[in-house]
Amino acid sequence: AACGEKHRISRDDVVVGRILGEGFFGEVHDGVYKSPTGERICVAIKTCKDRSAEVKEKFLSEAGLMKNLDHPHIVRLIGVIEVDPVWIVMELLEHGELGNYLVEQQYILNSSTLILYCLQICKALAYLEGLNMVHRDIAVRNVLVASPECVKLGDFGLSRYVDEQEYYKASVSRLPIKWMAPESINFRRFTTASDVWMFGVCMWEIYSMAQQPFFWLENGQVINQLELGKRLPKPQQCPPAVYSLLTHCWSYEPHGRPSFGQLVCSLSDIHRIELEQEGR
Ligand code: ATP
Repeated sequence: AACGEKHRISRDDVVVGRILGEGFFGEVHDGVYKSPTGERICVAIKTCKDRSAEVKEKFLSEAGLMKNLDHPHIVRLIGVIEVDPVWIVMELLEHGELGNYLVEQQYILNSSTLILYCLQICKALAYLEGLNMVHRDIAVRNVLVASPECVKLGDFGLSRYVDEQEYYKASVSRLPIKWMAPESINFRRFTTASDVWMFGVCMWEIYSMAQQPFFWLENGQVINQLELGKRLPKPQQCPPAVYSLLTHCWSYEPHGRPSFGQLVCSLSDIHRIELEQEGR
């Protein structure tokens, strides 16, 4: 089984509510979970429409990765039901996907809030970096909003553990080309350094209020542009200091990119300065 005893929960303790959206494996619902201490917790319930053993195992592997993670900016796994129909139960993030939230709130969000979101996602990724885990799908569609001041990294569907100096060689075709580092596009090579590239693209999305990166190109044209040294342009709202970090994340050579640890330091500094300028 994908999960140990600790995360096995009983279906009798879960009340399913309305549909939140469609996931890769099936519908995602909201609901309420009654914990062993009697506490009622708002949850998101992921379901799997395919009943074959193979697909169920893939579906549950995301929970298998998430059960070992404990970070304030990573969506928390509450439990798993491993008997049919299999469910993954996670903490509910009331405000949904960051991408949609940015579009809805674009006239309200200020500069220090945007940098706060970048910093929080970066802290989550620095934590994964410390565990030698690559995420492989860092984008605003995979960040969820808990409150106006708190976002969390969700969706570990593509994540993998990698040994140091090693990398995960992907075979899947459902790849987010416009977010990917050149070595990921060319050789399907995914490392913490390629996650850093993707995080740069995710920050670009945040400052562009969730526009699609390279929306003016076809997937097949992206690698040529990158090889020519072309990069995503500075979004209007993006401070030059932040754009300089983005371009650093988009160094062609993986070794030329900063680590998530370094990015946390730089983003913290920028965040502090923004707050001072806003007089908070
Ligand atoms: P994909 O791989 O295509 O991204 P998925 O199977 O990972 O799909 P999600 O994108 O995570 O599924 O979830 C589908 C929908 O459910 C999303 O629109 C998201 O807004 C919502 N959702 C997922 N998890 C949560 C959560 N913990 N809290 C609130 N909403 C959630």
